[in-house]
Amino acid sequence: MTAKRGLNLILLGPPGAGKGTQAKRLEERYGIAQISTGDMLRGEVAAGSEIGKKAKAIMEAGELVPDEIIIAMLSARIARPDCAKGFILDGFPRTVPQAEALDVMLGEHELTLSAVIELKVDDAALVERIAGRFICATCGAGYHDVFKPPKIPGHCDVCGGTTFSRRADDNRDTVAARLAAYHRQTAPILPYYAAQGRLYSVDGMAAIDDVTVAVERVLSGLEA
Ligand code: AMP
Repeated sequence: MTAKRGLNLILLGPPGAGKGTQAKRLEERYGIAQISTGDMLRGEVAAGSEIGKKAKAIMEAGELVPDEIIIAMLSARIARPDCAKGFILDGFPRTVPQAEALDVMLGEHELTLSAVIELKVDDAALVERIAGRFICATCGAGYHDVFKPPKIPGHCDVCGGTTFSRRADDNRDTVAARLAAYHRQTAPILPYYAAQGRLYSVDGMAAIDDVTVAVERVLSGLEA
């Protein structure tokens, strides 16, 4: 049986590397779905669901939610119709067992992984990036106190909204725990995908637009 077509991507990198920002751009450019397990979990917490109740304290501590919860959530998500042209995984997989489960899931859905793009950023830059970020509470557009403030202070560039919010886990203590979890549990995924010949690394320290250009260069190489 031939694999279904579609642009199925993983964005890998530590918290604050710019995965969400780049994923949103890829979503618009290629018409593929951004799937952020962090956003999905924050939705569950906000809704007070069973998953949300289990995940809340773990997320506040900067640790990882158990693989079985995440894998079940993701498996249901990639079957949804908005993934027909493909998807960008942002924040998943985060452990080797999640990467292995993804391979099984893709096989079941007759899908293949197009590429894994690593955004490489120094740890020292991440704390500053994360501590300054916030989003529009109305439309979710992302901003940063220093690197990307709204053009008119207090007004969202996209929807004009005037209410903004910061993530509960974007504080210095939790960021340190999240970075430690990345190095301990997520970085070991890199050799897993390198061995599959699917790993591409991009300089995530560059300006946002330059990172987008570098990512698109990787993708155009895939199509060639
Ligand atoms: P993120 O928005 O990707 O930074 O994720 C925020 C938090 O959600 C993480 O610190 C974890 O507690 C949890 N989380 C998100 N994605 C995953 C995942 N794939 N596996 C385990 N925990 C996750």
